[in-house]
Amino acid sequence: MSKPVRVRFAPSPTGPLHIGGVRTALFNYLFAKKHGGSFILRIEDTDQNRYVEGAEDYIISALNWCGMPLDEGPGVGGNYGPYRQSERKHLYREYADLLISGGHAYYAFDTPEELDAIRKEYETQGKTFIYNWHNRNTLKNSLSLSAEEVRTRLERGDHYVIRFLSPEDEKVQFKDLVRGSMEIDSKVLDDKILFKSDGMPTYHLANVVDDHLMEITHVIRGEEWLPSLALHVLLYRAFGWQSPEFAHLPLILKPVGKGKLSKRDGDKLGFPVFPLQWEDPNSGAISTGYREEGYFPEAVVNFLALLGWNPGTEQELFSMDELVEAFDISRVNRSGARFDPEKIKWFNQHYLQVADNEDVAAAFQGFLKEKGIKKDPAYVKRVVELLKERAVFVKELWDLGSYFFFAPEHYDPKGVKKTWKEDTKGYILELAGVLEGLEDFSAAHTEKIVKDWIGEKELGFGKVMPPLRLALVGAMQGPHVFDIMELLGKEETVQRMHRICESLG
Ligand code: GLU
Repeated sequence: MSKPVRVRFAPSPTGPLHIGGVRTALFNYLFAKKHGGSFILRIEDTDQNRYVEGAEDYIISALNWCGMPLDEGPGVGGNYGPYRQSERKHLYREYADLLISGGHAYYAFDTPEELDAIRKEYETQGKTFIYNWHNRNTLKNSLSLSAEEVRTRLERGDHYVIRFLSPEDEKVQFKDLVRGSMEIDSKVLDDKILFKSDGMPTYHLANVVDDHLMEITHVIRGEEWLPSLALHVLLYRAFGWQSPEFAHLPLILKPVGKGKLSKRDGDKLGFPVFPLQWEDPNSGAISTGYREEGYFPEAVVNFLALLGWNPGTEQELFSMDELVEAFDISRVNRSGARFDPEKIKWFNQHYLQVADNEDVAAAFQGFLKEKGIKKDPAYVKRVVELLKERAVFVKELWDLGSYFFFAPEHYDPKGVKKTWKEDTKGYILELAGVLEGLEDFSAAHTEKIVKDWIGEKELGFGKVMPPLRLALVGAMQGPHVFDIMELLGKEETVQRMHRICESLG
């Protein structure tokens, strides 16, 4: 029997989770659930200099908002904890030592200043400095120095790091679930630092050790980690561990032009690049999020799922459960996925249409409350029913339908010019009189009465309905006039008809 699937999302808490990070988390989540496995959050906070206050909470809130509950992680627990690397510090040294004793890693005593000087010298010769097989025997490390000197230096407490001893001349072969088989010439690899002078592991060591200890079966992460894959594969081999399977997700590209979607693109082009609002703890600067802009998490998830993956059919609309069902890692594309901020609006519009009107009304009540408007829930729900097909966001219901809450104070000049003629006032006042006498003000009934009246008067629809709409709405827009009348009620309808006549004469 194959091992149970265990995947991890392993962000570094260096700031808010970028929308690309959410996509990585999502693909991990879908893969885990598809295979009945576990979705784990591991916080990779070994680099204390880059730690940002609040980032971890933000990551967890973002995952929850998107509907990706953790099976294991900080705050949730699990059998493989702790799930923050800073709390696993004590673990890594032992593994670095294991590599040294196995001949796969070595101590390097070169100081940052010495390395800088060498780097500069290489540059003056037009070369790039790489610390590896071609020069490591000439640098200050346990390969070049005598055992005696190494011991003295260690005992003395000299500055040192532990570097991986990458093979000198080997074609390193590995497989990626998205990119297929690959090969790298070990000659181009540098001897990466695994353990730093501050007693902390680097990303590479901690990541591989933790994936092993946490029994991660599949590593699904962004393409920017592909260059590290050879090293990781070599590390598994050096430890004598079976490596997990790897899948590197394609880049997310800018909406237009070349290159990766950056945080600045959002500001420049006016769309969020974060799932939730983020307030920078140092500068206090606020970046908006999809949630605050009024997007449904379902829309964000559906949109992100199709950024670099396709179901192989024409289907575009997927609930989370449907995504889990349809997700197939072999259908992840290799080429970059273009971020289209218009497309996510299209998804939002869809999810607004299928949302329960009562929920939408409750959300809309929030906006009304901010404006100091209190209305009966049934009334607000009916407004939602009448307007939502025209809306992309709940907040737009206000722009589309403020006339349900206030009588128009202005009349759209274009509409006036087109509909308000010399004799209009007369008809509107007469019709107001007819309506005033009605008991039944349902849309069906008023529609019949008004139509009959237009027929009797031989006026034609075009003379009456547009100015009537203008009276109620203030502009030539909105749903069916008789539906508006029914909701406003007789008194308000008649009042508005009088009002426009006074105003336009
Ligand atoms: N800590 C890395 C990051 O911030 C994790 C990369 C990986 O998944 O291996 O993306």
